[in-house]
Amino acid sequence: MPNTITLLREIQRIDLQIDALLKEEAQYRESLEGSGEELGGMAVSVEALEAEVLELSTQKKEKEEHVRQNNERIAKDQVRLGEIKNDKQYKAVNKEISNAEKSNKLLGMEIDALSDRLSEKEGNLSEQQGRFTEKEAQLTGMKEDLSGKESLWAGTREGLDAERGGIAKDIKPQIINRYERIKSRRGGIGIVNVADETCLGCYIQIPPQIYIHLLKDTSDDLTECPHCHRILYFAAEVEAGAAQEQDEVAMSPVPSESSKEDAVADDDEATSEDVSKA
Ligand SMILES: [Zn+2]
Repeated sequence: MPNTITLLREIQRIDLQIDALLKEEAQYRESLEGSGEELGGMAVSVEALEAEVLELSTQKKEKEEHVRQNNERIAKDQVRLGEIKNDKQYKAVNKEISNAEKSNKLLGMEIDALSDRLSEKEGNLSEQQGRFTEKEAQLTGMKEDLSGKESLWAGTREGLDAERGGIAKDIKPQIINRYERIKSRRGGIGIVNVADETCLGCYIQIPPQIYIHLLKDTSDDLTECPHCHRILYFAAEVEAGAAQEQDEVAMSPVPSESSKEDAVADDDEATSEDVSKA
């Protein structure tokens, strides 16, 4: 049966997978919620723009109606002008026509300005409506994916829990509890490798006597880092990646240095022999 350290390392590997799974799930739900809030905000600003567009187009219609009424009056007045014999009345009607024409000129300018603002607002509105529709489709897609993701998460979790349970049953409860206590206090990492006499959890060098102790086969005897209190192990068989390079660097100077020392010693001997011979 594998020793406690090997089992704890397996537990740590599974726990990291569970943590990553929980993180993925939380992030998905968070982004779903965020998108929902964003969509709500977008709906509010679309509604506000719609109200603005409606208000501007009402104003424009009112002014256009005013122009229409003025034109009607002008046409009637022009008919009346032909029938009037009295000079005073003629002047009065003429003035009415000219006032109506002035009013129309002013209204025409106002209508132009309103048209400009209206087309600008309508442009904004259609752009915002487009973004809203896009976001809404994205949110709908995320909601549709959710149930599939939920069953995937649940299935993966179930598998990991089962695997963890199968390993944990071979570890003494007080040891698993200890590992879990450390893990919860130390950012999800309860057991770490040591490389180059350094704890790879806190990156602080550990005392030589602890390192030497680790190098021995200690089976169920657990060693903690004196700094971060994580459980330490020394993996002679190294996993791929940076850890491997680190270990190779740490190990390689040992034989080459000793051979250098031998060479120096040989030279010294040779020199002394030469001296004695001479
Ligand atoms: Zn440490």
